[in-house]
Amino acid sequence: MNIDTTKLFAAAAILLAAGLVCGGVRAAETPPAPPATLFRHVTVVPMDRERTVPDQSVLVVDGKIAAIGAHLPAPNAVREIDGRGGYLVPGLADMHVHSSNSRDLAVFLANGVTTVLNMGGASAEFVDQVAPAVNSGKRPGPHVYLALRIDGTPEYGQLVVASPAEAVAVVALAKSNRYDFIKVYNNLAPDVFAVLAQEASRQGVPLVGHGVTRVGVERQLAAGQVMVAHLEEYLYTAFFPPDAKVGAAAPPDSAIPAAVAFTKRSGAYITADLFTYATIAEQFGRPDVVEAYMRRPDWAWLDPEMRIAWRGAGYDKRTGSLSNRAAFLGRFARALSDAGVPLIAGTDAPAIPGSYPGASLRADLYALHAAGLSNFAALSTATRTPGEMMARTRQEPCFGVIAVGCRADLLLLRDNPLTDLRALEARDGVMAAGVWRDRQETDALLDKVANTYRSILSERP
Ligand SMILES: [Zn+2]
Repeated sequence: MNIDTTKLFAAAAILLAAGLVCGGVRAAETPPAPPATLFRHVTVVPMDRERTVPDQSVLVVDGKIAAIGAHLPAPNAVREIDGRGGYLVPGLADMHVHSSNSRDLAVFLANGVTTVLNMGGASAEFVDQVAPAVNSGKRPGPHVYLALRIDGTPEYGQLVVASPAEAVAVVALAKSNRYDFIKVYNNLAPDVFAVLAQEASRQGVPLVGHGVTRVGVERQLAAGQVMVAHLEEYLYTAFFPPDAKVGAAAPPDSAIPAAVAFTKRSGAYITADLFTYATIAEQFGRPDVVEAYMRRPDWAWLDPEMRIAWRGAGYDKRTGSLSNRAAFLGRFARALSDAGVPLIAGTDAPAIPGSYPGASLRADLYALHAAGLSNFAALSTATRTPGEMMARTRQEPCFGVIAVGCRADLLLLRDNPLTDLRALEARDGVMAAGVWRDRQETDALLDKVANTYRSILSERP
């Protein structure tokens, strides 16, 4: 890498971190309520079950779906959108992101993502100001849910919770700071995990996250953890003993049914992050693969700090191959799906090199389809199932399906994604909480982000 460029990126990162560029969050006034909107002559893909309903009208009032019908009368002062030839689907949910700035949120939105779950590392500013501003419609972005990430040791640089007393305290802290979940990490001690699980259930802040090495995913789910954050956690804490060397071998397929059975019994949601794992796998020993990420158009919308992080991530310097394990995870995802275990999509964007906000979510759905899930099952992981998860675990209002009373998070496509998921590439517009943006407007959001980064990077200290 060119030395000058490194300095430039570092300078940009410092400016961004110091909030010297483009300011922090502006004190936002209460936004005007979005106008009532009527989609006309659109084919609805409700995602409640596998079906399409042709030639429908969908009325949106106050951020919610108010009516759906063959020929709804237009109320006064309604904006009409002619959906002829188009398909209206629920907006997409990425249930594992690490974005912690408002520009990333604009990029997600422009990609049709209307819900994200931040799984750790969010700044206090993001938690206290950016997420509430987006969730109340004062700033553009997907609805943001938050998980507070904790670990038992400083090894991975997370917030350390080292005793049962601290476990009790951290649940109260998460609750008072309005986190939706607590995300557990690899090195929590078993006695701390046990107290955490009890307290989390008592206070109503459910546990999500990794396999905890000394507990194991099976016992975690039995203790009430509601979600596993990566499919590969099973490799580390279900299929292999905790002290086994992490080699390139995949477990035998004969081990799958037992893992499917205990998972199904628990009712937990499993993040089927096939794309993310495959992306890490493809970087092993391949600097050219990482270089190619920088030539993608999406690079222009990637935070300069993440550009530095991607270049230095180091997966390309590793040896060996993860491809057997990646293939195994595909078969495991298929088995979970076939057994009716609820799968959710999650990408780790943009924390893993190659995982661009928005684009990686579509890639995850394509990977699930390639693993043998139907288009409907794959699309469910980013629509219906995240909505179900948030309703069941957090009593959140409905989203992820097109039904009366649900949040008006919608995506207008030119083709039917149940026929071919690649229809997600041709978006005519996106609605988040009742605010409609057509393709021109979402492209303008992307241009603004790209221009901001360009101007930051052109300033020389
Ligand atoms: Zn993550």
